Amino acid sequence: MHAGKKTSFFGVRAANVAAMQRILITGGAGFIGSHLAEALVAAGKVVTVMDDLSTGSRDNLTGLAGQARFRFVEGDVREPAELAGLVQEADFVFHLAAAVGVELVVRQPVHTLDDNVRGTENVLAAASRSSTGVLLASTSEVYGKSVQARFREDDDLLIGPPSFARWGYACSKLLDEFLAMAYWREKRVPVVIARLFNTVGPRQTGRFGMVLPRLVAQAVRRETLTVYGDGQQSRCFCHVHDVVRALVELANRPAAVGQIYNIGGTEEITIAELAQRVNEAAANGAGMKLIPYDEAYGAGFEDMRRRAPDIGKIARLTGWRPTVALAEIVREMVTAECGRFVSVTRPEHRC
Ligand code: UDP
Repeated sequence: MHAGKKTSFFGVRAANVAAMQRILITGGAGFIGSHLAEALVAAGKVVTVMDDLSTGSRDNLTGLAGQARFRFVEGDVREPAELAGLVQEADFVFHLAAAVGVELVVRQPVHTLDDNVRGTENVLAAASRSSTGVLLASTSEVYGKSVQARFREDDDLLIGPPSFARWGYACSKLLDEFLAMAYWREKRVPVVIARLFNTVGPRQTGRFGMVLPRLVAQAVRRETLTVYGDGQQSRCFCHVHDVVRALVELANRPAAVGQIYNIGGTEEITIAELAQRVNEAAANGAGMKLIPYDEAYGAGFEDMRRRAPDIGKIARLTGWRPTVALAEIVREMVTAECGRFVSVTRPEHRC
């Protein structure tokens, strides 16, 4: 590694290829990580993806396979030895590896806590040995059951009791944030924390619980859409391309170091209305049915009624705003799913 390189990342625009050359993305075979890897390779970076393929997939990286500036390493962030070597080589780390998806975190609470806390600690410890910059991907789950209309980064957090497994995920990511802040304050590791709200777009799988790919898959198959609870809980969805742009913007800003930023869509919608829009976009006449939470996630589950970000902080720093409207997102996902379903399964099917 040449002198000065480690400190040159912040303050350099992503387009400036020479200044921040080698990027490590943990969890880069996942939905968001793979889009980030593509964007960085396209910007001229040399990108290493480390992923244990627990929820990510090699298929997400097919667009990058064989490219000279791209490398995939199958590995687990909970194993410090291999991780340390990769962090050492990198000029900057996007740490996205984590247990994700509400369904997965309620079914595998031990794995969730272990993966999220130990993995992040290992990344930060390795980064502290080489003063490597780290962007920690956190989550809007940390806001818990807060009732503000729009969540702000300096809000108090209202996390539910340990008897509900979901809150263990929120706590694990919150502990990740505390760890990142501690490594910044005490060991001067330049960290920035991004709290991602509901991110959607191509390649997102519904396997671990995410609502939009699930509803879209159901609508394309002419099934009745499964809406949990009373359907009046609301979310804001943001296209993954907008999210990736925000992550790169934050990584480029010295003023972002030691700070937390919300990244999310601004259009709030109830899940029942979302289901209706999906049905309309797919011309599905099968409607929707309400499914009690206990049936969907097992006994002992709490949802959050509303979740909307205040994105003023990142907008003030970088000018970032989401650009892809929800209607466009739904259309894109329906078209993509339809193409997949028709070509693979049912050539006679009309979407
Ligand atoms: N949900 C739903 N049907 C599904 C999957 C999820 O109604 O098939 C609901 C879920 O209960 C939650 C919302 O959709 O209220 C968003 O769920 P997701 O798991 O995508 O993200 P969350 O915002 O809960 O982390």
